Amino acid sequence: MQTETIAIHAGNLTRSVTGDVTQPISLSTTFFRDENGGYPGGHMYSRVSNPNRSALEKVLTALDKGADACAFSSGNTAGMAVFQALLPGSHIIAPDDMYWGFKKQLLSIFKGTLEIDFVDLTDVSNIAAYIRENTVMIWIETPSNPLLKVTDIAAVAAITKQHGLTLACDSTFASPCFQHPIEYGADLVMHSSTKYIGGHSDVLGGVLITAAHTELWEKIRNIQQIGGAVPSPFDCFLLLRSIKTLPYRMKGHHENGMALALYLENHPEIEAVYYPGLPSHPQYEIAKKQMTGFSGMLSVLVKGDGARAKKVVNTVKLFAQATSLGAVESLIEHRASVEGPDTKTPQNLIRISVGLEHIDDLIQDFEQALRV
Ligand SMILES: *Cc1c(COP(=O)(O)O)cnc(C)c1O
Repeated sequence: MQTETIAIHAGNLTRSVTGDVTQPISLSTTFFRDENGGYPGGHMYSRVSNPNRSALEKVLTALDKGADACAFSSGNTAGMAVFQALLPGSHIIAPDDMYWGFKKQLLSIFKGTLEIDFVDLTDVSNIAAYIRENTVMIWIETPSNPLLKVTDIAAVAAITKQHGLTLACDSTFASPCFQHPIEYGADLVMHSSTKYIGGHSDVLGGVLITAAHTELWEKIRNIQQIGGAVPSPFDCFLLLRSIKTLPYRMKGHHENGMALALYLENHPEIEAVYYPGLPSHPQYEIAKKQMTGFSGMLSVLVKGDGARAKKVVNTVKLFAQATSLGAVESLIEHRASVEGPDTKTPQNLIRISVGLEHIDDLIQDFEQALRV
C-alpha cells in the first residue's frame, strides 16, 4: 500500500460493536480478564497498552516501514528512553547540531552516566576517529534543528554495521512521509509527534520505531510500560486523526517551503537560506537521494545582527512568533534567544516553519517585514 492509504487505514484497529467507522476513544484504564486469567480484549492496564495507543503504534510502524513502534508522551521522553536503555558507561556519537533538548538531556541528566561526543556528521569520514571500545550508538538527526544539516543515513549505517553499533535517527523534520531511515539502514527512528505528525499545535507526543525486535528494543518497551511516560488515549486519538491527512499536509508544507526558500534566497536582505531542497544546500544531493520531499522547515540568516533578526520576527504578521514547528499555521522564531546564552546558533538566524496558508500571503508578509 502507498503512504496515503496506510495513513488512513493502518491506524483503525477495532471493529466496534456499535459499528463506529473511526476508532472510539477508550478511556478505561483497566480491562476485563476471563475465567482463565487471560485478557480477551488484548489489553490489561492502560499504562502497558490500550486500544488507541496500539492503533497509533501500528500506523506509525507501517508508515516508517519498521517492525514495531513505541509511543511516548513527548518527543523528549521518546529520545530519553533510548538513552536510558543504554548501559552506564556507554559512549555515543551525536551530531554537533543535535536538537537542543536532547543535547541538554545528555549533558545534564546523563552526565556521568553516558559518554558523548558531538560531531559534525555531515562529513562521514569524521566519524571513525571517534569510535571507542565502549561506543554503542550513533545518533543522527536529519535534517537537523535548526541548521537543516543533512546526514547521509546509508553512509553512517555502513559504519554502524561494520562496528556493531546501533544507528538511531531523529527524523522529525522529514516526517514519516518524506524519509524512511530504516530503508537506509537505521535501527531506530525517532519523531517528535508534536510536530508534523500532530500538525495542529495541540498535542504533545513522541515515537520510536524499530527496524527489528532486538534486546535494546525490549528494554525500550519496558521503559515505556514500566516508566509510564505514555500518551493518553485522547492524545493518541488526536494523533491518529492527524495522521490521516499527514501525506497531504506534507505535500503542502513541501510546496510552500520550497517556494518561500526560493523567494528568500533571492532576497537582498537575506544572507543565507538553509533548506535541503535548494540546489545551493551543501548536502542537496544526499537530501535528494534519501528524502522524497523537503518539508516546510527552513532557517535563514538575515543580513545584519541579532537585533535585525528579532526586528523581522516581530514585524511579520501571519507567522506566529512561537517555538515548535510542523503545524498548519506558520511559525517563526529567533532561535538563539530561545536556546539561551551558551547557544552556538548564529544570532542573525531565524527558524521558519512554513504552514499551509496560501504561499502568496506568506511571501507578501516577508516582503513587508524585510522592508522595515
Ligand atoms: C521538538 C523536537 C524534539 C522534542 O520533541 P518534544 O515533543 O518537544 O518533546 C526532538 N527532536 C526534534 C528534531 C524536534 O524538533
